[in-house]
Amino acid sequence: MRRKQFLRVLGAVIGVAAAGPLLTACGGGDDIDATTATISSVTRTLSDEEIEGLKFMREEEKLAHDVYVTLFARWGATVFANIAESETEHTSAILDLLLKHGIEDPAAGNPVGVFDNDDLQALYDQLVAAGQASLVDALKVGALIEEKDIQDINDKLAATDETDIAQVYGHLLCGSRNHLRSFNQALLDQGVTYVPTVITQQEWDAIASSAYETCGG
Ligand code: ZN
Ligand code: ZN
Repeated sequence: MRRKQFLRVLGAVIGVAAAGPLLTACGGGDDIDATTATISSVTRTLSDEEIEGLKFMREEEKLAHDVYVTLFARWGATVFANIAESETEHTSAILDLLLKHGIEDPAAGNPVGVFDNDDLQALYDQLVAAGQASLVDALKVGALIEEKDIQDINDKLAATDETDIAQVYGHLLCGSRNHLRSFNQALLDQGVTYVPTVITQQEWDAIASSAYETCGG
């Protein structure tokens, strides 16, 4: 139900048939390229993939925030409070892009722990449950969120040619690398060596063993 409603709204917003497969809607784009080339960059609309990417990342950054505030309430470890604050900034940065490009905000009116995207709702429920068992489990949840975030942002980054979107994604990636370092260190302090499951061990090691970055605005 929720998914269908979401597609209808999206269809209305971007003016395409909502029944069409969103992710393959870019196929056969020769005609579209010829048309967009004559339209100024001001009026040019984003691709379906860019719009979907922004909506997804708006909620994934909210998921990170919501999981961390919930796990902070459970364990009182300051690493969760500090990073939750940073995630508020990340999800707000995506909201700014949604507003700028006239895209409906999927997180509008949703309190902590509530998501429009069914996959992210299921993930949130699963991660919060996993983080209840012990502080180490909660820290592993944090590490998992950050490696998934890095993977997802990289995917969305590869699918956009818009400078403003790429800049925000770059900023989020920088923040995620710092968050990964913090969770990695917190786990090491607990005597635990984290094994990544989303990004490669090589990618994990390269980030975890390098210095904290200043991510800018
Ligand atoms: Zn983030
Ligand atoms: Zn993060």
